[in-house]
Parts: sequence; C-alpha cells; structure tokens
Amino acid sequence: MSDRVYNFSAGPSMLPLSALERAAAEITNYQGSGQSVMEMSHRSKVFIRIFEETRAKLRRIMNIPENYQILFLQTGATGQFSAIPLNLIGKTGKADYAITGNFSTLAYKEAKKYGEIHVAASSEDRDHSYIPAQSQLQLDPDASYFYYCANNTIYGTEWQYVPETGDVPLVCDMSSDILSRPVDVSRYGVIYAGAQKNMAPAGLTVVIIKDGLAGHALPFTPVMMDWQTMIDKDSMYNTPPCWCIYMLGLTLDWVEENGGVPGMEKRKIQRSGMLYDTLDASKIFHCHAEKADRSGMNVTFRTDSKELDERFVKAAEAAGFVNLKGHRKVGGMRASIYNAMPMEGVEKLCDFIRAFEKNL
Ligand SMILES: *Cc1c(COP(=O)(O)O)cnc(C)c1O
Repeated sequence: MSDRVYNFSAGPSMLPLSALERAAAEITNYQGSGQSVMEMSHRSKVFIRIFEETRAKLRRIMNIPENYQILFLQTGATGQFSAIPLNLIGKTGKADYAITGNFSTLAYKEAKKYGEIHVAASSEDRDHSYIPAQSQLQLDPDASYFYYCANNTIYGTEWQYVPETGDVPLVCDMSSDILSRPVDVSRYGVIYAGAQKNMAPAGLTVVIIKDGLAGHALPFTPVMMDWQTMIDKDSMYNTPPCWCIYMLGLTLDWVEENGGVPGMEKRKIQRSGMLYDTLDASKIFHCHAEKADRSGMNVTFRTDSKELDERFVKAAEAAGFVNLKGHRKVGGMRASIYNAMPMEGVEKLCDFIRAFEKNL
C-alpha cells in the first residue's frame, strides 16, 4: 500500500499488512458474532475459540512439545524479569546470567532482589558488540537456571548458538527474534517474549514453560507473576489481553502462509544480508556489532560524525524510511527489520544508503 511508510521501529513495529487488513475487515463484527473482538467477554465461546486456536497455532508453528505450557500474559517482557526469579530461584537460591545488552542487564538487576545472581558472562568490555563464546561461559552447576537474551535489540547482536548448560534449565528472552529462526524448544526450560516486535501489538507476553518448572514460586510472589496460577487458570486468572491474542492469531496465519518459521528465517537472512553487504561496501558507515554476532533483526550502524548521522536519519525520514535513529545508548542508526518488514523496504533502504553516500 503506497500510503504506508517503511517503519524501522524497534518496537512496537510493523505488522503483516494482511493481518491488519483482516482485523480492519472484522473490527465491528467478528465472523458474524455481531461484536468486535475488543468487546467480547473473554469467557465467551467465540473468544475461547480464538484463544485456543491461537495457542494451537503457536504450538504447531514453533513445534512446542506437549510437555510445555503456553501462557498469554501481560506486564510485558519486563514483567518476566521479576517473574523468572520469583518462580525459579527457590530451587537453590542461585542463578547464572549472561549480560549481553540492555535488557539482560535489567533482568539481572531485578533478579538480584531475590537471590544470589552470578554473572556467567558479559560483553560489557566491548560495549556489547559481541556475544561471548560457549567456552567463556562460567557456569555454576548449582544454579537454579541460566538466563540469556537471544537477540540484543538495542546493540544489534544475536546469539548464534544455544548455550550448553548441562542440567541447569535455560531461560531465554526471545522478545526480538522469536519466530525468526527455528528453535528446538526442548532444549529450554522457559522461553518468553513481549509480542510487540515479531508477533502482535504491545500488551501481550508469551511465556513457554516446561512442565515441572512452575509450582515452586517464592511465597511472596504476586499472584499475577505466579506461573502455576496462570497455568491452572489457562492464562485467565484475570482478563487476558484479548485483542492482542487475536492479532497474534492473524500474524501466525501470515507466518504459516509464508513458509512458517523456516520461511521467516530465509527472509531474515536475505534482508539482513542485503543490508549488511551494503553497509560493509560503504566507506562512511560502520556496524556496531562484530561480524560473527550480528543480529538478523536489529542492524546498528553509524558514521564517524554525529551530525552526519542526524542528517542521514532526517533525510531517510523525508524519503519514507522512519524510526531509523539509534537508541541513545549506542547512538548512530538502527534499522529494525523484523518478520513483517517487506523485502522491498530493505532493498529501497539499501538504495537510499548508497545514494546518500554518493551525493555527499
Ligand atoms: C523490547 C524488549 C524487552 C522489553 O519489553 P517490554 O514488553 O516493553 O517489557 C525486553 N527484552 C527484549 C529483548 C526486548 O527487545
């Protein structure tokens, strides 16, 4: 649609056009129910069907084994920074954290309120421009869990391997790269993601939990953070984020129609490869992330001059490429190219980058 911009926002971010159009078509009367999904009781038959179908689609698309629970919660990915230690640390009182960016740092700070938290690895020494190797992880076999963030949204790095932690359950924040590459869920204890990057509008957090891990929350855990309560009540201890769950279902339909997660990964590699090649060929732009650990979702780059960066961001916006300004922690530019970013958006951005440099 020609009146839509290419939105490179880190989140909330672009949704598939087909999902938005279906939502628009159904907005006042969902499939003959005479109501909008926004107006329905979450206990109604019609909504329960949306809920169950969406959950089944996610299980199918991500290949989530039957011995994992899928929760649709609120309070954002950030809410899980608290929920994770509250639910899991009771086992030994200790946990390992890999610090590779902003959100893992925040998760670590929050976890420290509830137990003895050990930094198993950190990339702070090089401004979070890389991912520590497996051999650099200092693992405590007595940790209740090992925590990491798969894709560092702000710094633009992505783990290219799944940490090997023996019997210690892996807990992973996949907020900004869920559904962008196949994941062997059976290797994880907990996977979670805020929806507003690759799945749905803001307001929904998906939490995937292996059986046996919930049910041991610290006694003072707020009820809204207690995974077992939410498992027992099918994510409906209180009113769930109904509209977001419905939108997730529409996004998942689009994922399935486009080759599923392998199809998403293929596009991810094409999009990010094209953009990194363009930046590598440039004489003025440099990437923040080290080559081996570059993110396929958030591409961070800059010139040597703040003024030139600003000029670039402004000129890009005028040309219909919006939200390219980098996060203040990294500076420069960031192009977030999540699943719903059309290939054409990145092709045109690459053309724009080349033309900008040529016309300097
Ligand atoms: C956006 C983001 C968060 C924060 O999500 P909220 O839903 O705003 O709490 C956490 N982790 C990662 C990796 C993110 O990209």
